[in-house]
Amino acid sequence: MSTAIAKLLGADGPLAQALPGFAPRQTQQAMADAVEQAIAERSTLLVEAGTGTGKTFAYLLPALQSGRKVLIATGTRALQDQLFHRDLPTLQRALGLSVHTALLKGRANYLCHHRLERVAAGDFGGDLALHPVLAAVQGFAGRSPDGDLDALEELSPQSSLRPFVTSNADNCLGQDCPDIGDCFLLKARRAAQQADLVVVNHHLFFADLALKESGFGEVLPDADVFIFDEAHLLPEVATMFFGTSLGSFQLADLARDLLAEAAQLGDVPELPPRAQALSQAAAGVNAALGDPPRREPWPLRPIAVFTDALAAVRQALADLSASLEALSGRSSGLDNCQERVALLAARLAPFLTDAQADQVRWIDVRQRSCTLHASPVDVAPLFNERFPRHARACVFTSGTLAVAGQFDHFVQRLGLGDARTLALPGSFDYQTRALLYLPGDLPEPSDPGYTEALVAAALPVLRASRGRAFMLFTSHSALRRAATRLRSCDEFTLLVQGERPNSELLAQFRRAPAPLLLGTGSFWQGVDVRGEALSCVIVDKLPFASPGEPIVAGRIAYLRREGGDPFNDYQLPQAVITLKQGLGRLIRDAGDRGVLMVGDRRLRAKGYGRVFLKSLPDMPITHDLADVQRFFDAPAFEPAAP
Ligand code: SF4
Repeated sequence: MSTAIAKLLGADGPLAQALPGFAPRQTQQAMADAVEQAIAERSTLLVEAGTGTGKTFAYLLPALQSGRKVLIATGTRALQDQLFHRDLPTLQRALGLSVHTALLKGRANYLCHHRLERVAAGDFGGDLALHPVLAAVQGFAGRSPDGDLDALEELSPQSSLRPFVTSNADNCLGQDCPDIGDCFLLKARRAAQQADLVVVNHHLFFADLALKESGFGEVLPDADVFIFDEAHLLPEVATMFFGTSLGSFQLADLARDLLAEAAQLGDVPELPPRAQALSQAAAGVNAALGDPPRREPWPLRPIAVFTDALAAVRQALADLSASLEALSGRSSGLDNCQERVALLAARLAPFLTDAQADQVRWIDVRQRSCTLHASPVDVAPLFNERFPRHARACVFTSGTLAVAGQFDHFVQRLGLGDARTLALPGSFDYQTRALLYLPGDLPEPSDPGYTEALVAAALPVLRASRGRAFMLFTSHSALRRAATRLRSCDEFTLLVQGERPNSELLAQFRRAPAPLLLGTGSFWQGVDVRGEALSCVIVDKLPFASPGEPIVAGRIAYLRREGGDPFNDYQLPQAVITLKQGLGRLIRDAGDRGVLMVGDRRLRAKGYGRVFLKSLPDMPITHDLADVQRFFDAPAFEPAAP
């Protein structure tokens, strides 16, 4: 181990002196050492760092000291902010460093002066309810140093005003913009180009790779060192960005912008009818797919009404292309629309021909719009082609990368066969601080009465833990059934995903007496409730992705065609990672204690159950409810003395 790293992260090092509560950890030092080596060798390193390793400092420290250009990509914007506003300054202060750092988010996070002016001129339908929010945005525009809308509480990410005061690649005027001198987005991108260490998120990283591929310019600076935190999320993000998609809302937006441009010019009478034809064609696609909201595979046999609707879109785009060609150069707004017409026509093309063997086509139907997707089933070749790693140091890290100690699954998903791997156990004592409860008498998960039986088995556990629990479900229907059963029970403050925004549910969870949160999807990972506030996690079933999900189904079919083993190579490891993420919600700090209950009897009855158990931290397992009661009766769970 490098003595310099050991000293910096050691008991007498600058971090121990500067940070109250800093505990030197061998695993942290081992990780920092491996990262330092990967940077020096310009090689690829995969690190699974169990909870409590202190992995953020373990990669930041060698990155800051490397003297190289570094790009760090996190899984979420919240983590980006935490890294940039908290961890980096803390570390720089403690080490006496002054590395030039920058934070860069996706363009939808930055206030766009140009679009704000248009909104202020009444270009957003004039929804009165949004006027106070608009006033807040205008005030923010005048005082914000960076235009990062995450700092503006009044404008939630879901606000319908948000798309009107931010730009997207389609409607940004770029060099032709009259407000380019004050543009927050361009300033942030310029700062990123000049910084020595840039913090981005996975979405921005992959959006940039996709952008480079399409020849639309580069947003992110190149770097010598790339560090991906929460790297287990990368394959799915890559799938999203390496695919092609076309949303009916994009067509409708274009039609609306064309009408606005035509009204402004006043002498292009041929344009409005063609813009309206596009708007109607977009509505036709929505109507052809109808209700309810759903994600479904592409129809195997052509459905006349759907193919006709797509043909109408193609025709409307072709007509507009001809009109705009003749008007080329009349205004920057029209020229921008012309580019968008070409772009959307290119995106439509793959949906008008037969599917490629390495793609899965599917449809996402929402309340008032739909999106057509063509997603790659295997992102590894695309990732390696678009992100060559030779001559670059790359670190992929997460609390959950390995399955039963092996990295094969992650390596195969991203094509990282040349990587060095390092699995570091978490520093928490799961033997004394956690208990895995597997109730012995639940029916098969496929049994129609399973969810009701699970709730009945969970109730005594929830009473013992006095709520303070997450119940995590693998499907919305199971979540709803459990919610129905639990609503009559007044012992807990019941919080149900979907009934309020997730952030509100979490805030209430932290405050409410005996809270019980029922969640699925996003609550399995990335949620951080520390201390006794969360003392129990109950998992309904082993979290295998639904084979009815279009991308999952496409990937299974593809692996089968290729002679692979979809279950062992894809479905099982994916489910193991998700279960590890679920458990990760429970023990967040060295002082945390808690019970993980898994209702699914397959964990014990099936051979593959051993793969799950081998992948979880080493902790006591019980089938006896009395052990759960004893665990919660232990002194650590007694209410603190006043
Ligand atoms: S350049 Fe684009 S993002 Fe910047 S102010 Fe103009 S339209 Fe908005």
